[in-house]
Amino acid sequence: MEFRFTEQQERFRKEVQDFLKAELPPGWSEGGLDLDEDGGDDAKDAFAQTLAQKMATRGWITARWPIEYGGLGWTPLEQVIFSEEMTRHKVPRTYITDAGVSNVGPTIAVHGTDEQKASWLPGIAGAKERWCQLFSEPNAGSDLASLQTTARDDGDVFVVNGVKIWSSGAHKAKWGALLCRTDPDAPKHRGISYLIVDMTSPGITFAPIINICDVYSFNQVFLDDVRVPKSNLIGEQNRGWYSGTTTLNLERSFIRHAIISQLYFDEVLTVLRDGADGHNMLDRNPALRHKLADIAVDLRVARLLAYRVAWLQSQGDPPSYESSVSKLYCGEMAQRLAQIVMETLGQYGQVKKDSKFAVLRGKAQQIYLTQRGITIGGGTSEIQRSLIARRGLGLGG
Ligand SMILES: Cc1cc2nc3c(=O)[nH]c(=O)nc-3n(C[C@H](O)[C@H](O)[C@H](O)COP(=O)(O)OP(=O)(O)OC[C@H]3O[C@@H](n4cnc5c(N)ncnc54)[C@H](O)[C@@H]3O)c2cc1C
Repeated sequence: MEFRFTEQQERFRKEVQDFLKAELPPGWSEGGLDLDEDGGDDAKDAFAQTLAQKMATRGWITARWPIEYGGLGWTPLEQVIFSEEMTRHKVPRTYITDAGVSNVGPTIAVHGTDEQKASWLPGIAGAKERWCQLFSEPNAGSDLASLQTTARDDGDVFVVNGVKIWSSGAHKAKWGALLCRTDPDAPKHRGISYLIVDMTSPGITFAPIINICDVYSFNQVFLDDVRVPKSNLIGEQNRGWYSGTTTLNLERSFIRHAIISQLYFDEVLTVLRDGADGHNMLDRNPALRHKLADIAVDLRVARLLAYRVAWLQSQGDPPSYESSVSKLYCGEMAQRLAQIVMETLGQYGQVKKDSKFAVLRGKAQQIYLTQRGITIGGGTSEIQRSLIARRGLGLGG
């Protein structure tokens, strides 16, 4: 059993590292972990786009796409190396993990017509436009197929009405991938269509949703008589569930979560070893050493599980329950880590960065809160457990 990357893969890792060293401002990667990258900081956003466009000229942003649509034919293992280095160097991921790059573009590449591919894929591959995913609704999340947004057939257009929710970055997106009901009488998985919507169309309005960290990242999106050209239908009418499933399956890569947790853990250990401004937290509760040792083990397991998903994909073997195992483990581990850091820091973990009592730059409370969403977005832990029981253990249900 070989647990090493090949020499060629390590050479590629070095190339990514060299690029990032040259492009990131001095000291950038040494700064601590920052998870509020989509928090509306315009300067950071502009920097993220410039950097993404430089990567786009190398084809790195869409490297896993088919070669004819701007891909480089990377295997999932090269993608893992790239994600690891991007996360390690704390590169803002806007544009790089944008819904267009990670999910919608590859869906268009599989299910779109030649005209659709020519219209949308170059903009995504060049990091020129942002995209959002308009799937969840107030009454359709885990049970997405019960969605109620309708699209009425009206000559050359569909007329869309409904409400979407939790739409990340929709207020910054030029395009949205929308699931809507085109046949209200069909069984629920059958009457759904997948449309690409221009987010500046008349009839679209947003209500910002401020998240638990005080960051504007989500939206409620209202669609009132929005006219969408029929040429924006991806795949066949009423068979959008299958295109939607392609988009959702592409969401499942968890190496980033494993690396983020490792970076945070390393930062925490440095603070604890240095005595955190004279506050020796472990002296107050020596049992926490054991919990931190457990997390060190968890981190290794999390990384191996994420590698396994990429390895299966690189063998042409689409992972089924394995990606659920990885998501469940990485997500819950990130939350255990955040919880233990809070216990370890005590009151010092609860203050914000401007406080004179802040340790870890006041990030402990922010990371504790941010990580709550990890076991909800992209399929909750309960749904992952159901998938593992059904597909992995053959327990039906
Ligand atoms: C960070 C983040 C980003 C997101 N971005 C987007 C986005 O860009 N676009 C988008 O469309 N959506 C987005 N979402 C929404 C996300 O897809 C939904 O929150 C998720 O699918 C869960 O749906 P829900 O919130 O409606 O919860 P529900 O489905 O109502 O679930 C509520 C609770 O019931 C449990 N539950 C539900 N069904 C079952 C079952 N069958 N068995 C056992 N337990 C069950 C769930 O696990 C959960 O604990 C995002 C969410 C997060 C956290």
